[in-house]
Amino acid sequence: MKVLVLGAGQLARMMSLAGAPLNISISAYDVNSDSIVHPLTQQPLGKGLDKAIADADVVTAEFEHIPLPILAQCQQSGKFLPGETAIKAGGDRRLEKQLLDDAAVRSAAYHIVNNETDFEQAIRKLGLPLVFKSALAGYDGKGQWRLKRAEDAAALWQQLDAFLQADSKQSIVAEQFIPFQREVSLIGARRANGDVQVFPLTENHHVNGVLSVSLAAAGNEQLQQQAQQMFTAVANQLNYIGVLAIEFFDVNGELLVNEIAPRVHNSGHWTQQGADVCQFEQHLRAVCNLPLGSAALVRPSLMVNILGEESVPEAILDIPGLHLHWYGKTKRAGRKMGHINLSGATTAELKARFETLISLLPETAFPELALMAARLK
Ligand code: ATP
Ligand code: MG
Ligand code: MG
Repeated sequence: MKVLVLGAGQLARMMSLAGAPLNISISAYDVNSDSIVHPLTQQPLGKGLDKAIADADVVTAEFEHIPLPILAQCQQSGKFLPGETAIKAGGDRRLEKQLLDDAAVRSAAYHIVNNETDFEQAIRKLGLPLVFKSALAGYDGKGQWRLKRAEDAAALWQQLDAFLQADSKQSIVAEQFIPFQREVSLIGARRANGDVQVFPLTENHHVNGVLSVSLAAAGNEQLQQQAQQMFTAVANQLNYIGVLAIEFFDVNGELLVNEIAPRVHNSGHWTQQGADVCQFEQHLRAVCNLPLGSAALVRPSLMVNILGEESVPEAILDIPGLHLHWYGKTKRAGRKMGHINLSGATTAELKARFETLISLLPETAFPELALMAARLK
């Protein structure tokens, strides 16, 4: 099978690595340069989306912020999975909120803001504090504003107004600020026949809006059931095919959806060694209409993102159960350059290994890791 991936980043790269043993070959389409590139070397292989689609059996995506004409063209081909509607819902917070409402899945109360009247209504209806998010193009916490105090509303409106004026396609989604205890995500796959397999819930820690650590250990069965039910409702609503990720806020054991990602997800990288079949293979199985693999946890695992660093101390490779994954990217401040996966036979062993890892990594480049080590019990 030949799978074309829209996007040529690390997710396409890891799909390519996972697909090879199944004889599934990946080509990556860089939407910015209109070129097909090799998913591992980034070497240009040709130009033009028409040809790329014609050469592929299946078309999928590694990100959701894709120009609409490209989505339409892929949809036209009849090869696009999970398809235009799902990708759009992941890339536009207005459609995402509508989807969650339609699927009767809980998320933060919201109000869509296009003008000053909407802005005032949002504050009246939802109360403070509020989080304002750009409807389009937000990722890694970019395109967000917070409002805590009524006296700051006028100044914030100036900023939001300028933002809305600059792009007629944008809106802002005002959301109630959720005082969550933890952030968790559920990654799962759905196949055309309706089969669903979900990985165990992953606990996530963000630093400055960017994912830093994901942790998958023996979890709470009640929470897992809740997440799985919400996942299935969203996936069925979309008639979804492929891997889908859902981010949740855990508020005293009650889950609220934060957002969805219609693709493989950074918080699922631990599945490369903590699960039987990793999320990348699972996605390829789903979109190629092959049986899904078991998504059960094989061993407690975690992932640490490498952000803006080109190297890590070699000595970390001495830690048993550790695997290092580089993405072959050129360095930029804060850029996702690679990740570290770590496993243990038991949670206690994982914790001990994580503490060794923390002692070897520079604090400045890997802040707040100890907070997550404390979660491992
Ligand atoms: P991603 O890179 O995960 O796609 P994003 O830019 O789409 O990020 P969100 O996930 O919506 O942004 O928000 C980023 C972070 O901001 C969340 O992980 C959470 O920590 C915080 N946050 C977002 N919405 C809320 C909310 N309503 N209440 C409290 N915190 C929030
Ligand atoms: Mg997002
Ligand atoms: Mg998010």
